[in-house]
Amino acid sequence: MKKVIMIKYGELSTKKDNIGYFLVTLKNNIEVALKNYDCKITYDKSRMFIETDNFDEVIEVLQNIFGIHEIVISYKIETKDIEEIGNEVLKLVQKKEFKTFKVVTKRSDKTYPLTSMEISKKIGATLLKNISNISVDVHNPDLEINVEIRRNETLVYFERIKGSGGYPVGVQGKGLLMLSGGIDSPVAGYLAMKRGVKLECIYFESPPHTSEEAKNKVLALAKKLSSYNNGMKVHVVNFTKIQEEIYKNIPHDYLVTIMRRMMYRISAIISKRSNGHILVNGESIGQVASQTLTSMSVINEVVKLPVIRPVACLDKLEIIDIANKIGTYETSILPFEDCCTIFVPKHPVINPSSRKCVEYEELIPFDDLIYEAIRNHEIIKITNEENKEFEDLL
Ligand code: ATP
Ligand code: MG
Repeated sequence: MKKVIMIKYGELSTKKDNIGYFLVTLKNNIEVALKNYDCKITYDKSRMFIETDNFDEVIEVLQNIFGIHEIVISYKIETKDIEEIGNEVLKLVQKKEFKTFKVVTKRSDKTYPLTSMEISKKIGATLLKNISNISVDVHNPDLEINVEIRRNETLVYFERIKGSGGYPVGVQGKGLLMLSGGIDSPVAGYLAMKRGVKLECIYFESPPHTSEEAKNKVLALAKKLSSYNNGMKVHVVNFTKIQEEIYKNIPHDYLVTIMRRMMYRISAIISKRSNGHILVNGESIGQVASQTLTSMSVINEVVKLPVIRPVACLDKLEIIDIANKIGTYETSILPFEDCCTIFVPKHPVINPSSRKCVEYEELIPFDDLIYEAIRNHEIIKITNEENKEFEDLL
């Protein structure tokens, strides 16, 4: 009998046409995440197995990998003989304390001569015969014994750990996350990765109006997200000149609208150059003036690629809940100023007009500014290894 980690795919297993690609991606993602552990990974269309001596550490890593529905500590028995299975189950449960139990059998080998019900009954009978003072309770047992009869072996398990769900990161292609130091965008990134989108990040900084700490905070957030994404590439764009030009030349009620149109334009170009399909950001309907539906549409119209806003319909408290769960909240609430907050006017327009935006944008040489910013932008690669320089912000 061998103790192994079994992975159940959940939603994945319904994607019939793509399943091969999904599973190869999942296996690759797991291999990269577990590269520091000695593991043997095997899989078929319904289950993946990991053999390792580092059970606890490996399970902790697996809990952050999308595409895993359940992580199950199981015992592989290299026999399908019902008497032998009964005896092996008996050995396993003798170490456990329980008064009531039930056996749940899944028979993925449909050629097996006994039905699931008959298998459960036979195993149950072996236990009742050999352990005193126990009884069967199908509704609320102390111990649930799961048995899976597969083509070449039998699996027995008792405990299941919930996985992160979703699709393996990468199966849906690539997106560029507009990552600020706020609460919303890391959560938006997490949710996009959960649907299988591989991310790169873009951050707009405005030194000296924004500090090195603000940038490190964003890099610390990117580092947090990198554990789901097998590392993270962060594009850091110097936005100072663009913001100053906008500030000097454009009516202040339109500052944020035009600034965000610039961010979108730059993001779309950088995304295209990195073979990205979508932009992802942390906008939430109605949260601030630039996130009214009219603002969003006037800002959105400068790009062609889809902009996905995973937190668009969540309340702030719901977003905070997720931020706490994924461990980004404490970093996000650190006080360093982001470029947006510095140039925010007292009365930003709530219903901007697209015509006015075009008119105002003619007041600045925005194409030149955009290409200059893109040409000079910095790329920072965050690996899954410990990046000590950002750790103090986590
Ligand atoms: P908060 O959590 O405080 O709302 P925020 O980051 O969501 O912070 P918003 O002003 O609401 O700030 O910005 C909306 C979205 O625009 C962000 O979620 C993020 O995706 C993007 N964004 C804002 N500022 C930047 C920036 N400096 N660099 C990259 N993306 C940004
Ligand atoms: Mg926000």
